[in-house]
Order: sequence, then C-alpha cells, then structure tokens
Amino acid sequence: MLITLTLLLALALGVTLIKLVNHQHAIRSLHQAILKRRPLLREDLPSLSGSGWEQLCTLSNDLITEATHLQQLRSGQLAQLEATLGNLQEAVLIVDSNNYILLANKALQSIFPRAVNILGQRLELVLHSVTFLGYVEAVRRGTGQPQHEIEFIEGSQSSTWLEVTGVTIPAINGQKAPWTLFVLHNITKQKKLEAVRKDFVANVSHELRTPLSVIKGYVETLVDDTDGIPAQDRARFLKTIQRHTERLNSLLEDLLVLSRLESINPGIRRETVEFNTFLSNIIDDYRARPAGKGHQLEFQGDKSISPLAIDPLKLTQVVENLLDNALKYTPKGSLIGLHVLRQDAGEVIVCLRDNGPGIPEDDLPHIFERFYRVDKGRSREKGGTGLGLSIVKHIIQLHAGRVWVESRLGQGTAFFFSLPIRLTS
Ligand code: ADP
Repeated sequence: MLITLTLLLALALGVTLIKLVNHQHAIRSLHQAILKRRPLLREDLPSLSGSGWEQLCTLSNDLITEATHLQQLRSGQLAQLEATLGNLQEAVLIVDSNNYILLANKALQSIFPRAVNILGQRLELVLHSVTFLGYVEAVRRGTGQPQHEIEFIEGSQSSTWLEVTGVTIPAINGQKAPWTLFVLHNITKQKKLEAVRKDFVANVSHELRTPLSVIKGYVETLVDDTDGIPAQDRARFLKTIQRHTERLNSLLEDLLVLSRLESINPGIRRETVEFNTFLSNIIDDYRARPAGKGHQLEFQGDKSISPLAIDPLKLTQVVENLLDNALKYTPKGSLIGLHVLRQDAGEVIVCLRDNGPGIPEDDLPHIFERFYRVDKGRSREKGGTGLGLSIVKHIIQLHAGRVWVESRLGQGTAFFFSLPIRLTS
C-alpha cells in the first residue's frame, strides 16, 4: 500500500516537473518572440494545448503583428517627413515624447557640425542647452511661446543664436504620445550685428557727451554772468567752446563718411591717375601746412608703376588720415616717409612709416576698430575721433585692397595698404 502511494506520488511529481519545464520553455519562447517581434509558432509551445497557452499564443501574435505594423507605419511617416523636410534651408528636429531624436535634417547638422548620427539619441546628450530643453517641455505642455530666441554655447567661446519655433504633432495611428517638431533658424549674424549697433550707439553717445557738456557749461556761465566775467576769461571760455565745437564737427564728419562707406552702395568713382604724382602731391600739400612744418616728410615713388584707376578723393582721405596720425602721434622733428614699395602679384603696396613712439603689440589687432584708441586722452587732446583708421580700412576694402600695420614700441610704426592694379576706370 505504502509502495503504491509512493509510486503514485513520484508519478505526480514527475508529471508536474515535466509541465513546469514545458511552461518555462514556453515563457522563454514568448519572451524571444516579443523581443524579436516574430510571431510565436505552434511548435514553440510543445504539449501545452488546452492549457490556455494557445489563447495566449494567439493574443501575443496579434499584439506582435500590430506592433510591427505600427513600427512600419512610424518608419513610413518618418521617411515621408524626412523626404519633405530633409532638404529644407531651415533646420528641423523631431523628438518623441521621451526626447529621443526621430528626425534631424541636413541644415541642423550644418548648424551643429558635431551632431552627427544623432537619430535615436536623447536630445539632452546632443544639444546641451538648459533653456532649449525647458522650451521643449513647455511646447509639449502647450505653454511655450510660438517663437523663442535661444543661445547655444559651444566650446569655450563661440555661441550660436537660434530662433526656435516648436509645435506638437498630434498622435497618429496609435502612437501613444505626440511628437514635437522644432524649426531652428540661425540668427547668430543678426545678433552680432545688433550687438555691434548697440556698441556703436553707446560709443557715439559717449563721444558726443563730453564736448556737449563742456560747451553747455561754458555757454551757461557766459549767459548767466554777462558782465562779471573778465575779458581774458571770456576769451578763454570762447576758445574752449570753439575747440569742442570743432571736435563735434570732426566727429560728425567722420561718422557721415563712415556711414556712407558702410551703406549698401558706397559708390566708388574711379579715375585713371599717375600714381606717383598723386601721392607726391599730397606730401607737398602737407609740407606747406603748418601741421607738417615741424616734421621731415619724404616721398619715394616707383617709376615702373603705370597709371592706376582709383577713386582719388577717397584715396586722398586714406593717405591724409595716415599722415594726420603720423603727425599727431610722433614728436616734432620725426621722420615720416611715404613709399611706394613694390608692384608684384598684380598689386601696388604703399607704406607710410614713422619713427615715433610705436604702438604696443596688444593694441595692434584692434587698431582698425571704430573708436579704438591706444591712449584715449592723447587722441582726444590731439583732436582724434577714433574713426580715422576705420575709415582707412573701409576705403581700401572698397578698392579690393588690404591694409595692415607693423609697429615696435620706441622704434616707430608702418602702415601698409595694397591696391590691386587696375588700369582703366
Ligand atoms: P584717432 O582719431 O584717435 O587718431 P585712429 O583710428 O586714426 O583714431 O587711430 C586709432 C589709434 O591708433 C590712435 O588713437 C592712436 O592711439 C593709434 N595710432 C594711429 N597711428 C599711429 C601712429 N602713427 N603712431 C602711434 N599711434 C598711432
């Protein structure tokens, strides 16, 4: 009896074990099928018929087929979007509800060259901008502004400004959550121009403020106390007013010249002139002026140069600005030489050299910027506006030439400009 009971128990245990192994096998097959999105076959579920597994098998196969279908639909939609948006000039980015990148067109990669092979990556790992990620969330919640200007800082110095417009794409064909689409427009150039313009306005206001407040102060004193001011002081006040009025005048003149040069059509009126005579006439004119009297002015031309087609008025201004600076910033008795250096590779090079105090190395890269001065006080005292070299640069660039400077402290400064050889106007 006991033996029969033991045998029956062993048999039941054996059957249960076999069932357990079969279930384990079925679970593994189901797991694999879901992972690989491959329908489950009847053979994958051995000897389990009638145990509910068949139903489960049919149900999972239906789900797998539907998921595969949705996946294909999604890829189809993305391919369609890619074909439409891929070649747009504007950068386009689509992310899913978990911030995984679904689409990034070529234009986006031209803005962020390091963002290659980013499909399937998380947005946070590709575009490191907290503001942008905040905007993505806001668009998703429906609280984002339609357009947003965002600065992306890449590396240590360069930053890119983008105007970003974000919209959600409604969930389609069973997609669980909506995607979000962004159009990114590069506005870095405009932003830089805006900053330059702001800087410029601030500089001009600053330059105008000092002479105006001096003039205002002296005029008020003269008006308020007509009889009490001794004649000597009155004359001194008037002289100061005159000096500051002249300063305002030079500033306005230089600003007008600059604005004309920077306009869309600055106009260049070429005439064919004998270049050596053109330059030596300017030097002769300066020798006759009181300002040029205390300096040694010399000219060295190059006979091999044919007549050149230049804008004589504008180039006179270039040489005059350089000569004025040489006279202003070098002590009396200094040597100032205007030389036509050589004619090679289709260009003429002109050099204006002085043996004055020179310009510190750190200032040299900025010397052609508007309002840049090495010594602000000295420049203003000498009637400088800080715009002379900027005007020089513009005029030379209008002639398709180059301008540069070499200088050593205590030894002197040499300004060079080149002009492409053009024989007819
Ligand atoms: P500014 O009206 O002040 O002369 P510029 O644009 O002509 O303005 O020149 C910019 C600055 O360059 C000057 O303020 C001066 O510090 C420096 N500079 C120009 N030419 C010379 C020179 N020949 N020697 C020394 N410094 C010079």
